[in-house]
Order: sequence, then structure tokens, then C-alpha cells
Amino acid sequence: MLRNAVRQTKNYVHALLLRGEAYYCPLCDESYSAFIDRQICPRCRSYERHRILWLYLEHLLRQQRIRLGGRLLHVAPEPCLAKVLMRRFDYLSVDREPGHAMQVADISALEFAEHSFDVVICNHVLEHVYDDRKAMSEIQRVLKPGGWASLQVPMRSDAPTDEDPTETDARERLRRFGQEDHVRLYGFDYFERLQRVGLSVEAVTWKDFLNRETAERCVATNDPVFIGWKL
Ligand SMILES: [Zn+2]
Repeated sequence: MLRNAVRQTKNYVHALLLRGEAYYCPLCDESYSAFIDRQICPRCRSYERHRILWLYLEHLLRQQRIRLGGRLLHVAPEPCLAKVLMRRFDYLSVDREPGHAMQVADISALEFAEHSFDVVICNHVLEHVYDDRKAMSEIQRVLKPGGWASLQVPMRSDAPTDEDPTETDARERLRRFGQEDHVRLYGFDYFERLQRVGLSVEAVTWKDFLNRETAERCVATNDPVFIGWKL
């Protein structure tokens, strides 16, 4: 609790020092003279991937392709996104560890009925999960027809997925999969895996829904958003 308060105060002071007009964070609706390390919002600590996802959500809401107040499941919730999602959706967050979300849940065995959610946000999770096919199927099952999931993962496009759930050596995981607690590094077959569980996949970039000026001001010009639609 105290650590949270100290962090929030630090972020607040940081944001005050970087007050300005050059950059804009749509998550905290504030503008700044700079982002930390050219990409982190000084106030809410969002990265580019969080801002582009939020901008895309706003776009879908404006287009009425998703419903304001719809049911949203946020897996392993990023605090900067949780705050804004709660205001727009009927929001529920889950995490496999206690204390990180509203409920404890295993993404590979969700206790929700099928067709429960309009939106699932599950970013940077699947690369940690042993049985990712099961997790993808669960996401597809709990989505309503016409619903969609944001499924961002680290991936490379020049090789297939490298995975090994039996690999437990942290240094070897870091070398092969990019992080000590990852069990795979996704490759060009990632979309195929999502399609196999019945999701229709799209990689959305800023060019699909933003003008260059807004994208550059929000620093949202590189990361695509990986979306799986349940048709
Ligand atoms: Zn922010």
C-alpha cells in the first residue's frame, strides 16, 4: 500500500516536470514535453503497446463495432489500461497469482460460461502458458459471437515458434525464449494457432485507423495490435 502511494507520488511529480504539448497520452488524457526513454508515459507508465490498443478500442467504440458498457475480461491486468477500461466497460480482471487482479483464475481452465464476454484483453500472457492451445480455446469459448480478444505476444516473423515446456533452466529460457519465465517464442505460425481454435485474426497498425500526427504525438507508430475475432 505504502509502496503504491510512493510510486504514485513519484509518477505525479515526474508528470509535472514533463508538462508540455509535444506528446499526448490517451490513457491519462494529458500532454507532455517528452515520454521517458521516448516511449513511457511519465504519469500512467503506459508503453506504446498500451496506447495503441486503447486508441484502437476508442476507434471501435466510435464505430459502434463494440458496445460501451459491454462485458470485458482483462487477464493479467496492466494497471494503466485497467484504470481506463473500468470506466467504459463492465470490467472484470483475473490473474493466476493472488493480489494482482479482482479474481484468481487459470487462463487454461476458466470458470466462466461460454459467450460471457464482449472483449478479452490478454496481452503478454500466452508466452508464459504451458498449454497455449487450451488457453486460446478458453478465450474463444468465453467470447460472445462477434466479440474480440487482444492477444499481443512477443514474436519474430522470420522463423516458426520455438517452444519447450520441459525446459526449466532459467538461463536457457532467457536465451531461447527471451525471458526467464517464458516457455516459448512465437514465430510466423502464431496466427495459424489462433485460427485453429476458431478465431479470425487481424494485425492492426496505426495506419488502419489513425492519422500520422496523432500516432506520432501518442508514440504509437510501431507495435501492431493482434486481434482475434469470434465470428
Ligand atoms: Zn499516461
